[in-house]
Amino acid sequence: HLATINALAFPHGQLAARLNMSVRVVARIRPLLPQELDKDIIVHAASTEDGKPDTLVRIPSPKNEAEEFTFAFNGVYDQPTTQEELFSAEVAPHLKSLFQGLDVTIFAYGVTGTGKTHTMRGGLKLADRGVIPRLLSGVYRRSKKMMKDSNGETTVTVALSYYEIYNDKVFDLFEPPEKRLPAGLPLREANGKTNVVGLTERPCEDLKDFERLYIEANNNRITAATKLNAHSSRSHAILRVKLTQTTGDMVRESTASAIDLAGSEDNRRTENNKERLVESAAINKSLFVLSQCIDAISRGDRRIPFRESKMTRILSLGQNNGITVMILNLAPLRSYHLDTLSSLNVSSRAKRIEVREIENEIVYKQVPRTNSGSSGLSVTRQPLR
Ligand code: ADP
Ligand code: MG
Repeated sequence: HLATINALAFPHGQLAARLNMSVRVVARIRPLLPQELDKDIIVHAASTEDGKPDTLVRIPSPKNEAEEFTFAFNGVYDQPTTQEELFSAEVAPHLKSLFQGLDVTIFAYGVTGTGKTHTMRGGLKLADRGVIPRLLSGVYRRSKKMMKDSNGETTVTVALSYYEIYNDKVFDLFEPPEKRLPAGLPLREANGKTNVVGLTERPCEDLKDFERLYIEANNNRITAATKLNAHSSRSHAILRVKLTQTTGDMVRESTASAIDLAGSEDNRRTENNKERLVESAAINKSLFVLSQCIDAISRGDRRIPFRESKMTRILSLGQNNGITVMILNLAPLRSYHLDTLSSLNVSSRAKRIEVREIENEIVYKQVPRTNSGSSGLSVTRQPLR
């Protein structure tokens, strides 16, 4: 009956052949930031037909401005999209499935400075809250209703784990950085599942509890990165929300995972020291395996190469009944041109579907980049008006 549930609940997802897996790959284009000097917008959302929702991203070719590349997604969210809109469209619909026992996994993928952390964590103001606090809020609301509707017969508990993967090592974010072992936490296989040995699991009763734990853990992440003279954008942060529903002796367990991925830019271009090279290799490999897994799930392949990286292995990506949503964050600006293109190319299902010739006169000018990420000057082209 799971197949039916899944098919009904997700008419737009691709259903995998044997397990009940679906995957959506969507893009979110962030707005210009007030302090940004580069105002040359080159990434645009588009629809296949007038009146249809946006599913395409258009970007000029870096080699020939007259050529335009188009990438297709399951959905594209343009600059004005609010946190609430993104959450309602791409995450809220899966809460029901989570309570039906399916696992839900949400990734934010993209170049540093494109809005991954904004999308997942967001700001402190209510309207700015990202996917993670909204997800938790939805979980508690549903839990309360479920317990009430069952006259207390069903109990629902929530437990959190939060860890990061840095240089292919796993670190518990609920532990203070000074307690970290340099080798990270070991993995162990049991019943076909991969467990992180010694990973803290904190019971979390309500949204207040969550906010306290989440802030504490995020501070641990920053402190740990600073100690290593690194940046937290060089690690993957994985929040796991374990939901346990108990009715009599029936127990149903499911997991929602929210992942703020390491920046997808190639830092070898700008920073050549040895540590950064090691980091880059680890990031590239894990992002590559992730995109291979997403590809395989969306094609309905039997073999999903989830064992080939630590992150996909711990997540058992594609091994359970569940839904995966990949949000590709994009900055619309010219200063991100090459990194944006490579993230569009890598993000699996985002296939380049067409190349269009457009008419444009071009001039060359230099635009300094203000945001973090691979910084420095880049040669840019702008149409004459
Ligand atoms: P990343 O985590 O991918 O490196 P951030 O989430 O830190 O990127 O975003 C970079 C900057 O852009 C931050 O100052 C963030 O607040 C801002 N930003 C990102 N997305 C949006 C958005 N949709 N609306 C407003 N500001 C945004
Ligand atoms: Mg970030």
